[in-house]
Amino acid sequence: MSNKLPWVLITGGTRGIGKGLVKAYGAAGYHVVFTYLSAQNQALELEEELQTNGYSCKGYQCDGGDEVAINELASLLITELDAPSVIINNAGIKKDGLLMSMDSKDWLDVINTNLNGTYFITRAFANAMIEAGEGSIINMSSVSGYRGSAGQTNYSATKAGLEGVTRSLALELSRFNIRVNAIAPGYINTEMLESIPDVQKKNIRKKIPLRRLGEVNDIAELALFLSSHKSSYITGQTFVIDGGLTV
Ligand code: NDP
Repeated sequence: MSNKLPWVLITGGTRGIGKGLVKAYGAAGYHVVFTYLSAQNQALELEEELQTNGYSCKGYQCDGGDEVAINELASLLITELDAPSVIINNAGIKKDGLLMSMDSKDWLDVINTNLNGTYFITRAFANAMIEAGEGSIINMSSVSGYRGSAGQTNYSATKAGLEGVTRSLALELSRFNIRVNAIAPGYINTEMLESIPDVQKKNIRKKIPLRRLGEVNDIAELALFLSSHKSSYITGQTFVIDGGLTV
């Protein structure tokens, strides 16, 4: 048994849901390691904010679609910190457009970051977690993973794929006491929604039974539960958190 701090790896921690997760896990007593693609200033500010509050946190630039970079980061982190207690595969992008006119680059970029990235990260840490004999992996899906969303074939494919990964990986890792679950958010109030005009956001709110967009903290509370022993009998599941949108 190691005497090192329990730590969580959160991909895509500089903005939106990831940033909310970084703060929530810091406050919950984890050492938080997060990745980002290019937002170095935001990463440094976030580290500083957590450290000022007495929490333990470190950000690393690491492209989630770059297998070599991920393997290098994983070997550095495992040497320094042992296995993570929790991995949250949160980093995700969207490049919307109708399939008929979608560039293959937009298709491949989204698949690479959202789906391949989850595979690269999870594989890079899985053996260390198996050796540790416990852990929780959370994949960030979306309601677009099971409900059609015109203009998002690439994004929907990755999120549906992540839910398949979640179920199959849960079966592979359960005998090592590692649980794998997915969270499928509906509309969450983050930068990702900034491109949606206000009038459209108003219409979206009207369609949500709870009459509001979700907040990052709604997601963080569920993730913390799925990371804790309180959920020790839950694996292979996808949790929709959408204010009733898809009911
Ligand atoms: P944001 O766009 O606000 O933030 C994305 C984060 O991912 C940033 O930290 C970004 O880093 C990082 N990132 C992007 N590409 C890469 C990459 N190649 N490698 C490493 N990091 C990368 O996203 P949200 O917070 O809105 O969404 C987070 C997750 O939740 C995503 O998987 C998304 O699909 C899912 N989701 C979000 C919903 C929403 O309403 N917001 C709804 C349903 C699902 P940098 O800042 O450096 O670019």
